[in-house]
Amino acid sequence: MSLSFDPDTLPLPIGHFIGGELIEVPGEIDMKRPSDGKPYAGCPIASPATVDRAVETAKAALKTSNWGGLRPRERVRVMHAWADLIEAEAETLARMEALSSTRLISQLAAGDIAVTAEQIRFFAEFADKEGGDVVPTDDKTFGMILSEPYGVVGAITPWNFPVSMAGWKLGPALAAGNAVVLKPSEMTPFSTVYLAELAVRAGLPAGLFNVVLGDGLSTGTALTGHLDIAKVSFTGSTRAGSAIMENIARTGIKPVTLELGGKSPQIVFQDADLSKAADAIVGSVLFNAGQACVAATRVIVEASVAGQFTEALIARMADIGPGPTWDEATRYSPIISERQRDRIDAIVAAAIKEGGRCIAGGKPMDRSGYFYEPTLLTDLDPSSPAILEEIFGPVLTLQTFEDEEEAMALADHPTYGLAAGLFTSDLSRTIRLSRQIQAGTVWINRYSRSRDHILPTGGYKRSGIGKDLGREAYLANRKTKSVLISL
Ligand code: NAD
Repeated sequence: MSLSFDPDTLPLPIGHFIGGELIEVPGEIDMKRPSDGKPYAGCPIASPATVDRAVETAKAALKTSNWGGLRPRERVRVMHAWADLIEAEAETLARMEALSSTRLISQLAAGDIAVTAEQIRFFAEFADKEGGDVVPTDDKTFGMILSEPYGVVGAITPWNFPVSMAGWKLGPALAAGNAVVLKPSEMTPFSTVYLAELAVRAGLPAGLFNVVLGDGLSTGTALTGHLDIAKVSFTGSTRAGSAIMENIARTGIKPVTLELGGKSPQIVFQDADLSKAADAIVGSVLFNAGQACVAATRVIVEASVAGQFTEALIARMADIGPGPTWDEATRYSPIISERQRDRIDAIVAAAIKEGGRCIAGGKPMDRSGYFYEPTLLTDLDPSSPAILEEIFGPVLTLQTFEDEEEAMALADHPTYGLAAGLFTSDLSRTIRLSRQIQAGTVWINRYSRSRDHILPTGGYKRSGIGKDLGREAYLANRKTKSVLISL
């Protein structure tokens, strides 16, 4: 059966989801389809009063359901049922996602959505395996560490992988016994609302997972600054992450997990399998048209093979297959908005003006929607914005090095440290450089995530604080209390 669908007839849940119910409200922020620029809906904006209602509902639901105090296996059961339903409804979720975002219908149901269901099961399984501890003390004392949920977690997600990013927040927070109020991006809200509907259908007590729609400045600020939000978990830009920390510092103190931007270097040595390295790098920068936090955007290649490697990159960037996100045959995504496409174009134009050479792409594509050509820039000064700024588009820069020391100096970004790629056949070098690289993830002779959800993901430097995925993400959703009993 074909996965393609008609984008003009897809029903959407337009409203907030609070206390187990869809609260339909008129859209205020105009939404356009990235694939053809056609207006199709409006995103409502939750006022501070609506955010307050969602947080109060979550607090009350924690109390009435005793979610955090249930036998942990009961939480596991509900979360597995939810994951099953996500799989059963994968096609509907996929359509909502493909309509608003830049994700392709061909990659969603068996990709992002299936992986999200898997991750929810993965996190559920921590619920009855991670607990507190009894600690060594003198024989007149009994000391223990209790592990407890925080309460209501406030989560905020970006537009580039809406269901996946929601899953990264919801899995550990709910498994750990918390309630969640989540604000998805105003550009891609509807699949998250549907996720919440599915959670209630699966048996999650109403009010434990609420969704408020809106923009960052009004709804997001009200959520992160709410006094009854006990912890904030955010994925998005470094700029918004800073604003959130500032707001939290002003309104109170609470832990915050930040998954932020990146500008990930790819170091290619002459002894690498150059064909595989080119596949991995171009595969990453074409995936979602480079709109991924870990996109492999900064190629740093050994000078002796630079010419050959450049040819390999250009050849792979020519075969892309752009088209609407709702067409199963499409292989290359549009850019999320006209504004973002123009920003990409401005950075590329400035790079060329300052003396950079554009050897592939370099302009918007001549078709409807917001498509941009896969672009390769060389001969740039290391201080160029094209090399330092997160472009969030299909733009690769290429720099060359003579020795390992120079490669590492070029790879080291002044502010970002999200991920890095190393391509070499020298085993000692892979270990030595993995230790040196200042990044939260290092991929060697590959450049993609695996389905091993036990690997934590997160950034060094201003790419973030804390981790999503892995045991760390579960533990970050529990707080500890030390108890001493005099015997
Ligand atoms: P964004 O920062 O503009 O928005 C992300 C979310 O934050 C949205 O829901 C937005 O409404 C909200 N927001 C914005 N300002 C806010 C504020 N002051 N207070 C509260 N909420 C606010 O980012 P985006 O354009 O949606 O997504 C792209 C960015 O996300 C890129 O920088 C990318 O690298 C990053 N990202 C990081 C990861 C990761 O795991 N590190 C994953 C995906 C995306």
